[in-house]
Amino acid sequence: MKKGIAASKGYAIGNVVIKSDDEIKISDTKVEDVAAEKQRLEVAIEKTRDQLNKIKEKAEIELGADKAAVFESHIMLLDDPEFTGAIETKVTSESLNAEKSVADVVEMYMGIFAFIEDEYMKERAADVKDVGNRILANLLGKAYGVSGDLAENTIIVAHDLTPSDTAQLDKNKVIAFLTNIGGRTSHSAIMARTLEIPAIVGLNDITSTVKDGDLVIVDGSEGSVIVNPDEATISLYKEKKAKYDEEKEELKKLIDVKTTTKAGKRVEVCGNIGKAADVEAVLANGGDGVGLFRTEFLYMDRDSLPTEEEQFEAYKYVTENMGERPVVIRTLDIGGDKKLPYLPLPDEMNPFLGFRAIRLCLGKKDIFKVQLRALLRASAFGNLKIMFPMISSLSEFLAAKEILKECMEELTAEGKAFNANLDTGIMVEIPAAAVYADELAKHVDFFSIGTNDLIQYTLAADRMNENVSYLYDPMHPAVLRLIKMTIDAAHKEGKWCGMCGEMAGDERAIPTLVEFGLDEFSMSASSILTAKKYIMNN
Ligand code: PEP
Ligand code: MG
Repeated sequence: MKKGIAASKGYAIGNVVIKSDDEIKISDTKVEDVAAEKQRLEVAIEKTRDQLNKIKEKAEIELGADKAAVFESHIMLLDDPEFTGAIETKVTSESLNAEKSVADVVEMYMGIFAFIEDEYMKERAADVKDVGNRILANLLGKAYGVSGDLAENTIIVAHDLTPSDTAQLDKNKVIAFLTNIGGRTSHSAIMARTLEIPAIVGLNDITSTVKDGDLVIVDGSEGSVIVNPDEATISLYKEKKAKYDEEKEELKKLIDVKTTTKAGKRVEVCGNIGKAADVEAVLANGGDGVGLFRTEFLYMDRDSLPTEEEQFEAYKYVTENMGERPVVIRTLDIGGDKKLPYLPLPDEMNPFLGFRAIRLCLGKKDIFKVQLRALLRASAFGNLKIMFPMISSLSEFLAAKEILKECMEELTAEGKAFNANLDTGIMVEIPAAAVYADELAKHVDFFSIGTNDLIQYTLAADRMNENVSYLYDPMHPAVLRLIKMTIDAAHKEGKWCGMCGEMAGDERAIPTLVEFGLDEFSMSASSILTAKKYIMNN
């Protein structure tokens, strides 16, 4: 049995197809007819463009516009003078064959990226390699990626899967995938969860431990792979899979069910989203609304700030798609562990206690106003609520509201529509806000408890540090007291209180949260149905 990182839940039993073309062999030759070679390169680039356009269209339909956007950046690379321009220069000025020219430029970029720790830059490196390999395959007249003729029950095994690979996967044939590298938040892992097929990443050497045609069992819940299992193991996993599928099917009955606790209190079970297209999963899993839209993802994976128009489109898309259901959109929460490559900020000794979230927005009013204007304009299209992160004092909330008012006045002067009565609330994720919740509750329309941060700040245990993870306990009495205080304070003022940290979907915590009278639970879409079941049983 091999263990890796469980990237997407579920079970699969099928036959291995190892993704070829990971390493395309090329020759290094000088050419005599430089013009003809340049022409060959241009043809291959145009073919690549056609293929990427088709993949992008398919991804838009199957994965949503946001996830398809990565292919737009691939297509843009084809027009980038620093990339295809550099390749062409190699052909023309060094008389190098097109294949070697592509390989050299890709290698040069890999060399630069290798020294950069930044996750964002690493993804960009993967994009350059992916596009480079596709041009190479087209120069050599070879198929690229995993789009070949596959049999049913195929399990793709690869060193890594690129976004274009995952977008091309035919769900009717491919029932799981396994990769040597990657983590839970790598592109391929996210795509697997969106496609709802089991996947295990970070298996180190799976491409050399299995061969084409091997029968494997993929346990996406545990992150384990069993190669060429015996009959008894196969039957055991067939049973597990049947049970898992049955439970999943059974849970679907709850999609349209309104969630009511045993005591008869109606609660909302909502979804957390990071990209506009994620609303589809929230709806498919019967979410009562969006409890947290982490808008910082709109600011990532790009090289400049998103414009008001771009943001407006994303917020409008979510709000319109949710109809009358509430959509809580959190303003930019950057800083801490989330950085923007194009927004340089000074290094900090303690980034989690530093210039992040609302602190940064109040300090960079121009950036903040662009987002607030986009949010206000989108509020004309549904039940949009604005939530400010990392609030530690009343003055921060009032300052944010003041800027919001300024934006409202501007929009009114410009004759642009918005909902002047939209709700504004705060995340309670700093202990001070929980302790001071009785006062804050008088001013806000709602609270949403951000336990991911609240726990780390209360227990002084970094949420990203494995060595202190034993201290990071959602059920610590001090954490529970703060949660109870916050809920009580909201109710005393006739306001509602939700929770959008991971704890809201935690089976161990749900009974206590129900007892405390939490009004709204918000979590990743795939946890909604299980949480509904637990809430109804408590
Ligand atoms: C939280 O802190 O609980 C939260 C939901 O926000 P994030 O995980 O984005 O910090
Ligand atoms: Mg937080």
